[in-house]
Amino acid sequence: MPGILYVVATPIGNLEDITYRAVRILKEAGLIACEDTRQTRKLLDRYGIHTPTISYHEHNEAERAPELAARMLAGESIALVSDAGVPLISDPGYRLVRAAIENEIRVEAIPGPSAALAALAASGLPTDAFHFAGFLPPKTGQRVKALEALAEERATLIFYEAPHRLLDTLEAIEQTLGPRPVVMARELTKIHEEILRGTAAEVRAQLAAREAIKGEVTLLVGKAEAPPPDDGPVEEAVEELIRQGAARMDAIKAVARRRGLSKREVYDQLLGK
Ligand code: SAM
Repeated sequence: MPGILYVVATPIGNLEDITYRAVRILKEAGLIACEDTRQTRKLLDRYGIHTPTISYHEHNEAERAPELAARMLAGESIALVSDAGVPLISDPGYRLVRAAIENEIRVEAIPGPSAALAALAASGLPTDAFHFAGFLPPKTGQRVKALEALAEERATLIFYEAPHRLLDTLEAIEQTLGPRPVVMARELTKIHEEILRGTAAEVRAQLAAREAIKGEVTLLVGKAEAPPPDDGPVEEAVEELIRQGAARMDAIKAVARRRGLSKREVYDQLLGK
């Protein structure tokens, strides 16, 4: 009988955030595949888990996935963990899950914490629909393009972000998405946990005043307001966005994008040309 692949969620900071079932599975598995064996060792030591570990990370997953699939086919059960939270969520594991499925190996998720959902739950932003977008591209142009592609999304947006890029990203959000509610959740479940709420500009101003921004950050952005009608006069659509809080230039850009017009064409219509 082949073994089972367990995809096990682990804490995102506070080591108490692990389920009884996850601890049992980690003890009973034949092998634990870890993103970083030294990082996972801290968790294993805390719970007296002596299962052997093997590294499985973005630089070796292409070779490791078939090797681990072969071990499961031979009867060994493997628990996959990442450094924090749910494996595969902006973390390695996809290839291993695919390899297991292709080999008809049973895959079971052992659920637990994930920074995206923890941040969403505490954010105060609508939870009926959300779009998890992972990490934005590091280069400014690509980051703005990625944000533009999400501008019309009628769902709370969730991003992971590195602390050293946070101020730039907040600026890009303000410029691209306008003055929507933004929540910055930093160091969730840890000693220095902090949640800031405001527009991107307000959150940015609070953070910019600090000497340094450290720790792990999840950013959330409130969903797009209902768009103004796409068929009425351009002037009304621009005025509606300004009423919703957008700067004039941003309102013109947004109306141009929605109607497939250039900014110049929107200006001309506003001037009655
Ligand atoms: N698989 C993980 C999960 O389920 O949350 C995410 C892994 S991803 C490589 C790491 C990113 O998640 C960090 O850069 C940060 O954006 C976010 N993150 C992880 N822990 C966090 C925490 N305690 N507070 C806020 N964000 C966190």
